[in-house]
Amino acid sequence: MPIWNPAIEQMKRSELKELQLAKLKQNVKYVYDNVSFYRKKMDELKVKPEDIKSLEDIRKLPFTKKSDLRDNYPFGLFATPMKKVVRIHASSGTTGKSTVVGYTRRDIENWAEMVARIASAAGVTEDDIAQIAFGYGLFTGGFGLHYGLEKIGVTIVPASSGNTKRQVQLMQDFGATVLVCTPSYALHIADVVKECGLNPKKDLKLKFGLFGAEPWSESIRKEIEKNLNIIATDNYGMSELIGPGVAGECLEKNGMHINEDFFFVEVINPETGEWVKEGEKGELVITPLEKEALPLLRYRTGDLSKVCYEPCKCGRTTGRIMKIMGRTDDMLIVRGVNVFPSQIEEVLLDVEGVAPHYLIIVDRKDNIDYLELWVEVVDSIFFDEMKKLVELEEKIVDRLFTVLGLKVKLKLVEPKSIERSQGKAKRIIDKRDVYENQNNSKNC
Ligand code: ADP
Ligand code: ZN
Repeated sequence: MPIWNPAIEQMKRSELKELQLAKLKQNVKYVYDNVSFYRKKMDELKVKPEDIKSLEDIRKLPFTKKSDLRDNYPFGLFATPMKKVVRIHASSGTTGKSTVVGYTRRDIENWAEMVARIASAAGVTEDDIAQIAFGYGLFTGGFGLHYGLEKIGVTIVPASSGNTKRQVQLMQDFGATVLVCTPSYALHIADVVKECGLNPKKDLKLKFGLFGAEPWSESIRKEIEKNLNIIATDNYGMSELIGPGVAGECLEKNGMHINEDFFFVEVINPETGEWVKEGEKGELVITPLEKEALPLLRYRTGDLSKVCYEPCKCGRTTGRIMKIMGRTDDMLIVRGVNVFPSQIEEVLLDVEGVAPHYLIIVDRKDNIDYLELWVEVVDSIFFDEMKKLVELEEKIVDRLFTVLGLKVKLKLVEPKSIERSQGKAKRIIDKRDVYENQNNSKNC
């Protein structure tokens, strides 16, 4: 399989590090000069851009958290005037406000380059027809993959997500050879293919699947590969950093090659903030090295994994992020949407008649994620008439839909029926086991 940008993807590690350092220095100065939030933080830490003399010196810089984006909602961390910003995307934040990100024209071009590399690594060439079944809109998945695949010269079918029977029909009629979506949606598509009486080997032309935006286990990979008769690769990213395209697997399927000329990846102990030993598990902290509109420093992703720098059989020299093994926080990803229990709690606290006792149950039925919420009502409401209970239920479901963008299955339950815990309240039951076996995954 051809390598999209051999000059970068096969660069000697010593040269790559030099390139990273040069870009880091420039970026830190850019951030210091253009974002008052960072200038203030760096002044407090008494660190100046000139103090960054080696890649290790990045540890002198402040971390950025998701809450920093929220506190500066919507555009407070942007480094360019709005006239230079050509695109906005957003994903759900920890509370009602979403995390907003912006792109200059050059950011969009660089993004396409990153995605072109990971898609090529996953087997895609200009001869392919790719059906993108990621949502197009504020979510970065659809547009992110679109521009990268277009750069390769792929024929794109921008189907977006949903209407699965039609997806299958399009796939059959247009002869898609590549499917792009979340892994859980791929499983669902596979079910519908079967329901339609189709045999993927005979009736479809699919060869490769590029999946990301949520955690998935090796057993889900095997199931998708078997049910759709494809090679399925994993790719990783997040809106704050650019969207998809931070890292992606090659056909060795053993870790996601990082676009290291665009991102510097640290692995830290989430408790102490210190670097873990090379190859050990920790929280990924990622610094984009040349973003114009939203250049973050040391972004705490909350994702747990390991990074491997052993040479890969594919010939690329870039480091690899092994499969994501968990989160440092309680963020759930339901149908590709980030859900924080705090968002749910905030909605509930605002509704009269419910007690602050709830239980979130996430499960997957027929390969579709669903979120069930049990909420205790107060005594006075519980003994009220049915009509009031139904109204209350509708109100909560509506409000949650506005905040999360997800339809929640709500169950109002009797006062004091949710088990009280002795210590930390257990409010989430995730039955999907998406990080299954990842913790004892092989080193690269
Ligand atoms: P997206 O727009 O891709 O949903 P978000 O910024 O909303 O991006 O969410 C990013 C988060 O999604 C990541 O921090 C990570 O937890 C999760 N994620 C993205 N890709 C993967 C992946 N390949 N494996 C596991 N988790 C992933
Ligand atoms: Zn490789």
